Amino acid sequence: KDGYLRKPEWLKIKLNTNENYTGLKKMMREKNLHTVCEEAKCPNIHECWGIRRTATFMILGDVCTRACRFCAIKTGLPTELDLAEPERVADSVQLMNLKHAVITAVARDDLKDGGAEVFAETVRAIKRKNPFTTVEVLPSDMGGIYENIQTLMAARPDILNHNIETVERLTPRVRARAKYHRSLELLQRSKELQPDIPTKSSLMIGLGETKEEIIQTMDDLRAHDVDIMTIGQYLQPSKKHLPVLKYYTPQEFGELREIAMTKGFKHCEAGPLVRSSYHADEQVNAASKQ
Ligand code: SF4
Ligand code: SF4
Repeated sequence: KDGYLRKPEWLKIKLNTNENYTGLKKMMREKNLHTVCEEAKCPNIHECWGIRRTATFMILGDVCTRACRFCAIKTGLPTELDLAEPERVADSVQLMNLKHAVITAVARDDLKDGGAEVFAETVRAIKRKNPFTTVEVLPSDMGGIYENIQTLMAARPDILNHNIETVERLTPRVRARAKYHRSLELLQRSKELQPDIPTKSSLMIGLGETKEEIIQTMDDLRAHDVDIMTIGQYLQPSKKHLPVLKYYTPQEFGELREIAMTKGFKHCEAGPLVRSSYHADEQVNAASKQ
């Protein structure tokens, strides 16, 4: 009646309430750190933090200069740049004993370098303190400025992830301040700068795209040399955000994964709860074995 689609059974997951993350969550507050796992109330937190030893940190503050219509992050004027943040992230990676750390950031269109230098320093700090932890970076398009991409790639992350998020036609509606081709270019340039570092991109579906458009996006990513793709179901964070227009079945995700693999991706993760950083540890291995 209210025009909203009902959530299908496979998305009704029970959150484990007696998880023993109290200590870790307390540490995050003490160190003034933010994780996407917590802020996005990610349903995979038990598996990621507890079993897989992976987490996604959000650096450069928790306020974004953009306001994409699928995203639950606060929008507004960001706080001052916190130059001690890289070390605190590196310490937490050590305390959490992470095998794989994903570092993402809000878009900082207010900064000349888009935050690239702090981003790069975070990668270096993690690697200094945790030589066995793999580091995946998930930057915004950093204004599409070549020098910013160069700064970040020079820190030698183990994987460069930049999300295309949606198909070309829906990009202006879904993430107004981003550009589909600028994202593709960032992926290609990163690969040109460090050809041995795998690149990855995620698509969320359920926003009104057609199957042809999904396949076109796969082709576009491959044409820009992207190695890994993830495809997940868009879920509406609140009623102010874009509505879900379709819930894909696990079978449909399976079919999309098959198609992606025929396009030449080295790895594709597709499923209703797949997030950009889900099973990220396996993807690094899959991509570097080739
Ligand atoms: Fe965190 Fe990503 Fe795992 Fe969710 S899927 S808990 S955001 S690492
Ligand atoms: Fe969210 Fe990233 Fe868009 Fe900012 S740029 S609103 S953090 S998706």
